[in-house]
Amino acid sequence: MIAIPYKIVDNTIGVFNTEIDTFIVQLVNNLNRMRSDKRLKLTREKKDYINEIISHSKDLIIAKPKKLDQYRQAFDKIITPADMASKQFESFRNRLIKELGYTTRRSDFYPKYFRKIGIKSCVYCNAHLTVAIEKVTQLRTKQKFTYKAKFQVDHYWPKSKYPCFSISLYNLYPVCGSCNNCKSFHDLEFLLYSDSKTSIISSFKFNLVPGSVANYLLSRKIEDINFTFNEPPVLPTVKKFQEVFDIQGIYDTQKDLAEELILKAEVYTAPYRLKLKKQFPKLFTTPGIFNRILLGNYSSEEDIHKRPMAKFTIDIARQVGLIKK
Ligand SMILES: [Zn+2]
Repeated sequence: MIAIPYKIVDNTIGVFNTEIDTFIVQLVNNLNRMRSDKRLKLTREKKDYINEIISHSKDLIIAKPKKLDQYRQAFDKIITPADMASKQFESFRNRLIKELGYTTRRSDFYPKYFRKIGIKSCVYCNAHLTVAIEKVTQLRTKQKFTYKAKFQVDHYWPKSKYPCFSISLYNLYPVCGSCNNCKSFHDLEFLLYSDSKTSIISSFKFNLVPGSVANYLLSRKIEDINFTFNEPPVLPTVKKFQEVFDIQGIYDTQKDLAEELILKAEVYTAPYRLKLKKQFPKLFTTPGIFNRILLGNYSSEEDIHKRPMAKFTIDIARQVGLIKK
């Protein structure tokens, strides 16, 4: 529900540079082996596709969205996205994704990479974590399978059409399992990574229905708390978040969180908050940590990816006067 500046991604890529270089050596070796595997009976176009990946291997991992789009056009000339997504190319596509290391990175690299960027909750719904437990087949042990926590990502350029971008860091959108299922092939206008130099503000918002708080305080019935999910207009050809993920439906089940914020606003008035800050100067060294304790979540827009429900919490807390607008 909010974009991340390129600067943060580039700094994080810098931190993991050595590890990324190791991945490149591995994937180039893997792809060379795949290309010369006679059993695969690779056609000229498939070999050209592999060569194109090898010759841009490092850049394909770290390239920004604009550059990825240029690569996309080059790959389209070798194998069209429709062909790549077809049944006929299925085994080639899956083999490529495997040799590029995407599956392995989901458990050994993405969790720490995205933790460093500051994403632990779904970039679409912000209601769930980006980790899902998946069944893993165990071939070497007596156990047939185990369950393992794996990082979930959606690909801006889908890996069914563009296996070449399956490990491109700017192509990865961390998501929860249910949003990943719902998104499928729908096009969205949301861009997770932004080159904006100014501070980024979310254009999505949860708005309390006027009179909702007063009604609730009088009746003390949770069903009197009502809010709407508002999102920016989109082109007719693309879908809105609400249509694809039923954001309103998800959050309508979380009215108790809004209730807690309404009641907190009654207790933690501005003078009382000031008194608490003065009483515990060593605990509350920054306004951020005081607000985080107060809300039980992050309180700044740029931190909403750090914890599920942060966006909803911030929007409601602002409207009930718990934190500044
Ligand atoms: Zn989600």
